[in-house]
Amino acid sequence: METPGNLFVVAAPSGAGKSSLVKALLELDSHLRVSVSHTTRAPRGQEQNGREYHFVDRPAFDAMVAANEFFEWAEVHGNRYGTSRIGIEARLMAGEDVVLEIDWQGALQIKQLFPYAVLIFILPPSWQELEQRLRRRGEDGEDVIAVRMQNAREEVAQARHFDYVIINGLFETALFDLKTVVHSQRLKYAAQRRVKSTVFHALDLA
Ligand code: 5GP
Repeated sequence: METPGNLFVVAAPSGAGKSSLVKALLELDSHLRVSVSHTTRAPRGQEQNGREYHFVDRPAFDAMVAANEFFEWAEVHGNRYGTSRIGIEARLMAGEDVVLEIDWQGALQIKQLFPYAVLIFILPPSWQELEQRLRRRGEDGEDVIAVRMQNAREEVAQARHFDYVIINGLFETALFDLKTVVHSQRLKYAAQRRVKSTVFHALDLA
């Protein structure tokens, strides 16, 4: 599917700082919209329905799957997560840039549907640092941290399938890298041709 808007997909193991980076990017970039996913997991802390996620129960989620309402969906850490078609398609068609903050399985599904989607993987600088960040977050007990570390090894192994890799050692550096990826994508010939089609036509460029 070809659309005037750009599609960015950001994946990372939990604790790598993906959410903070995407949040900071959105604050700096008014052309970017984040897609709010559906999930079967329960809200955490201050999370609100419709803001962080659309929280739905398993039957409602499965009904959406059956009705082909998701671009992609995956099971992550025992819960289901999906990117619904509504919203994203309209935004991309309207020329807005959309960012998806999803897991690697979903990212690879999106690449099949949107070959021009830009896949960005956020890596922690080391296993030790990732573990320390999970501890500092104070959200999980030791058993959950052990599971997350185990999952992280499998997730990180998928980074090779992504277009860009950002190592989140220093937050500001990683944010700069993320901004650079987004900016350079917008300047690619094919993206400029999609987005600036009037200019291209006027200049007789195909
Ligand atoms: P959390 O429960 O910590 O918010 O998210 C767990 C994982 O699910 C994260 O890697 C997050 O990016 C991923 N995730 C969130 N929304 C989606 C989605 O719509 N599709 C897929 N495939 N993964 C998602």
